[in-house]
Amino acid sequence: MADSSEKTPALRVSQLDATELDGEVVHIIKAQLNKLFKYHKSNILVTYDPEVSALIKTLIWRFSIYAHDSTIGQQILNLKYSGSDPQTSWMSRRQKILYGLILIVCPWLRERADNLVELAGLSQYHTKVRKLLKWLDITLKLAAVWNFLVFLQRGVYQTLTERVLGVQAMFPDRQGMRQVSFEYMTRELLWHGFSEFLFFTLPLINFQRVKNFVRRHILPRQDDSSHDGLRVMECAVCEDVPTNPQEIGCPHLFCYYCIQSNYKADPRFSCPRCQTSIPSVNSIRPYRTVIS
Ligand SMILES: [Zn+2]
Ligand SMILES: [Zn+2]
Repeated sequence: MADSSEKTPALRVSQLDATELDGEVVHIIKAQLNKLFKYHKSNILVTYDPEVSALIKTLIWRFSIYAHDSTIGQQILNLKYSGSDPQTSWMSRRQKILYGLILIVCPWLRERADNLVELAGLSQYHTKVRKLLKWLDITLKLAAVWNFLVFLQRGVYQTLTERVLGVQAMFPDRQGMRQVSFEYMTRELLWHGFSEFLFFTLPLINFQRVKNFVRRHILPRQDDSSHDGLRVMECAVCEDVPTNPQEIGCPHLFCYYCIQSNYKADPRFSCPRCQTSIPSVNSIRPYRTVIS
């Protein structure tokens, strides 16, 4: 048992985070199970869903609350449940078992209430039981809301279960205070904002036009004296053998796709080799070899 003076009450945000994490753990395990039985014809998991959930929760409870006085989420955030006297004791065996019953058996009973009523041969009370359960549900929900508001004000007993059992989430020692690196969070936020800005602006920029402008005005011109009057059999844009060759009135050839897409994106597009401009879309013509 830890030194009593070292215990500190847990922060509200840590307690809420721990609950979120606990929910995620069950969710992840269930998702994996569903994947396993995906191709199983009778879909056994749907039929026995309440039992499967109870089994998963039992396993988690056995190796978290029962073994270490804390849920998995609390272990990640370095929290622990204290017992009836927050300063001196951790959860007692009785509290652990009751916690398990409330966490596992109650939801299972609620899900299977209809089946149980029929099994017990009390079908004539079916509507009465339903009504009772409905009222119970509403009462519990209202109580949960009230409990949560009180929790927000006082910072203890986040769930009704905790309040009923009198267990509080605590930091076992002072060094265990939740330490959040705000530098990291700021950086995350900054990157997020920056990427959103990029996603918004990038589609608005005509990169083809920017590229052509840079090529025309900033980059040095390519020396084009190598072909000695002969037609160079390569596309002036992609420098590959032209597919469906086209010409625009200069000695150079273009792929159909290269020249059309460039002209569509930027009507001021000119031949990258000799700067011949394209007056209209009609001046892009298929290239025909002259057979003599
Ligand atoms: Zn090309
Ligand atoms: Zn040219």
